[in-house]
Amino acid sequence: MILVGLALAQDYRFPVADDDISSMYPTAYKDHSGVDWACGSIRYSGHNGSDFGGGGFDGMEEGRTIVAAAPGTVLYTNDGEFDECTTGDCDGGGGFGNYVVIEHPDGKVTYYAHLKQWSVAVGAGDSVACGTVLGEMGSSGYSTGPHLHFEVRVDSVAHDPFYGDCSSPPSYWVSQGSHGSVPGGVCEDVPECSPTSRLTCGDTWSGSNASGDAEHMAYGCEDWTYTGKELAFEVVTGLSEDVTVRMTGLSADLDLYVLEDAACDGSGCLGSSSESDASDESVAWSASADHVYVAVVDGWEDAQSDFTLSVECVGEVEQPGDSDPPGDSDPERDTADDGRDPKNLMPGERTPLGGCGCSSGAIGASWILALLWVRRRR
Ligand SMILES: [Zn+2]
Repeated sequence: MILVGLALAQDYRFPVADDDISSMYPTAYKDHSGVDWACGSIRYSGHNGSDFGGGGFDGMEEGRTIVAAAPGTVLYTNDGEFDECTTGDCDGGGGFGNYVVIEHPDGKVTYYAHLKQWSVAVGAGDSVACGTVLGEMGSSGYSTGPHLHFEVRVDSVAHDPFYGDCSSPPSYWVSQGSHGSVPGGVCEDVPECSPTSRLTCGDTWSGSNASGDAEHMAYGCEDWTYTGKELAFEVVTGLSEDVTVRMTGLSADLDLYVLEDAACDGSGCLGSSSESDASDESVAWSASADHVYVAVVDGWEDAQSDFTLSVECVGEVEQPGDSDPPGDSDPERDTADDGRDPKNLMPGERTPLGGCGCSSGAIGASWILALLWVRRRR
């Protein structure tokens, strides 16, 4: 990896929860030297953000939930500040009171300010999706009444997300709406990876990325733009355990990403491996039982190559109900003592592969169970 590509810009939903949108209205847009974005007067001098009211203190008490406008990573939060400010000059958060700051994969940063005391629901470093709850509307910091101050910054310079005769394009909203009303609450369409197959512990898959598509080129961990073809795989384990996905046998520069789910929108990246040249790549993470993760193989600068993908699991998680004494290493006695029907596995135990119509019968299933028992005790 040498060049850093640009992730696609992401448009914003109105950053208030669906049920509360109809209670909201703009009270001050960004100031453009005396006018707002539509050359109107809903602004005040020097205002850098967009303010949205929601029914004053009654509305605040009823609850107006603030959500992320687009996927990203939480950069900062502040909470604990007094939230019934009416004077416009209450202490805390440098004037923003209780607030959340999110950095998006396209490099833009969004601010959600003046939140209710102790309502901040995320922490620095958290990945958020479009619509993730951030907190509640309040009146903390430099505020004269409950409202949301929403601000967009690019390289620390405030940008107006609204586009009109007195503000330059583009609009940053999915659906901007008319002057004096609030934007739409629909998130930008999230492209989904299309997994070609599902892999679990011990599985391998061999082939080439030449058969993949090149549609989704930027992922959350590193925001690089891939012009080569990509292939995605679902990865599922029956246990909560440490999992490693390994990619070997390369003749060109393919990289590997693991995502929390199939949303290819720059959020939910659990890990990536992006060595240059045709080196092996691997990504390890702590998997939750039965959660469907997505591993993506992608070609750097049109790279195409055969590769083998393998899924390795540690399988060291002790399960509730495992009452065998420490040091007992006799798997046969364990299964015999236990006397459990292999079709009725305890919660958290790995299910026999394939979900089991069990044509191989109880003997086969017992063998699988015995093997799992050995593995768990290593
Ligand atoms: Zn404001």
